[in-house]
Amino acid sequence: MVFVIQMTIRTFNEIKRKLSAGEAVVMTAQEIKECTEKEAAEVDVVTTGTRGVMSGTYGVFSIPIKSLKFSKAKSLFLNGICAHPGPCPNENLNLIEAVVFGTASAGNYGAGMLFRDMLENKPIHVEAVAKDGTQISEDVFFEDMPYAKLMSTRNAFRNYSAMTNPHDHPITTIFHALEFSPNYKELTFSGCGSINPVQNDPSLRTIGIGTKVLVNGAEGFVTGTGTRSTQQSPNLTAVADMKEMNPDYMGGFMTSEGPECIVSWAVPIPVLDETLLKNVRIQNEQIQLPLSDVSIRKPMTYIDYGKLWNGTSLSVKADSDKCKHCEVCKAVKSCPMSAISDMLEINRYRCFNCGLCSTICPDVFHADLGKVQVCIDGTTREIPVACRQSDRARALKISRELKSKLLDRTFLLTEPVEKLQP
Ligand code: SF4
Ligand code: SF4
Repeated sequence: MVFVIQMTIRTFNEIKRKLSAGEAVVMTAQEIKECTEKEAAEVDVVTTGTRGVMSGTYGVFSIPIKSLKFSKAKSLFLNGICAHPGPCPNENLNLIEAVVFGTASAGNYGAGMLFRDMLENKPIHVEAVAKDGTQISEDVFFEDMPYAKLMSTRNAFRNYSAMTNPHDHPITTIFHALEFSPNYKELTFSGCGSINPVQNDPSLRTIGIGTKVLVNGAEGFVTGTGTRSTQQSPNLTAVADMKEMNPDYMGGFMTSEGPECIVSWAVPIPVLDETLLKNVRIQNEQIQLPLSDVSIRKPMTYIDYGKLWNGTSLSVKADSDKCKHCEVCKAVKSCPMSAISDMLEINRYRCFNCGLCSTICPDVFHADLGKVQVCIDGTTREIPVACRQSDRARALKISRELKSKLLDRTFLLTEPVEKLQP
């Protein structure tokens, strides 16, 4: 006999009342996939998460200058990274307002690293030239900046793509920490699969303008969909106060094309009816992603997140006793987060769980990153994952953090003030 579990339809307000009375059932997106149908039917809110390389990010800062009187800034560099002064002139206020793009860089140092250094309250070296020619050079600390917000042009795509290089020569790209090896030798991918926020509400029924979310651990608000958002692959934009962010969720990821910016999101999905219940129960193997030619980003075939996340290692284990003491340690040199010490210890606070070290030196660094079997142009190939540009371990962490905050009422669920068109 087949039992059909029916859930009670709920409104946003009913769920909010249950949360404030301490009666709501909250599960992470991972937990709701693993529980029984009966348990799932009782869930009021699901907390989703994603952490990845998100180029469409920028910071807006108000930077106090103490040392010199100046009129208004004409050019500005923060730790060598070019920032954009303005748009407000702040004439004669000894204050520079600036926008810093998440993809801006100075050599191997990128804005994602700068944002994290700010949060870690490291001195930020400011070099500016004022309209009147005054040269400014001084260190500023993040705690002295009266305004710092992180914003986005596009973040949190409903999952993303996998890449491989079908050509006969290596390719430098933002989709790999190293040059992409030729001839289908390896694969990289982005997207946290079944725990991804938009994947759990693909029609954006509960996520809209004004939805409160966590961005890098700080409360933020969804402001809309972003550039290149489509019905099939929506993404989101948000604004959040950098002062409240946790540097553990941020940082810069070094690719072979230069540094990229890392952002983490957690989004609550209220389970209003059976359609939403079905959505939040989605499994990795039900979510397809294109496997594309990295040079032209054209899909060659489709795979699913089950092959990439089910049963694979979320993090890497290191066994330094197996080290052969090479003249140059390729693992240390290639780590996109500079997270491996000369003693071969992984700094878990910095590590992105990309897995690259395990493909460069499998003797010392151990992880199963998975592989896919695909048929392209009539040839069946097995392509191993070499590097991940999403960190599911940290995405799970931020989804658990949001669950705790909802349960202890330090984070209040909000209903969107306006719907978004995915
Ligand atoms: S960790 Fe691996 S690559 Fe690095 S020195 Fe040891 S054996 Fe060589
Ligand atoms: S998994 Fe390895 S290569 Fe990747 S960030 Fe961590 S230590 Fe570096």
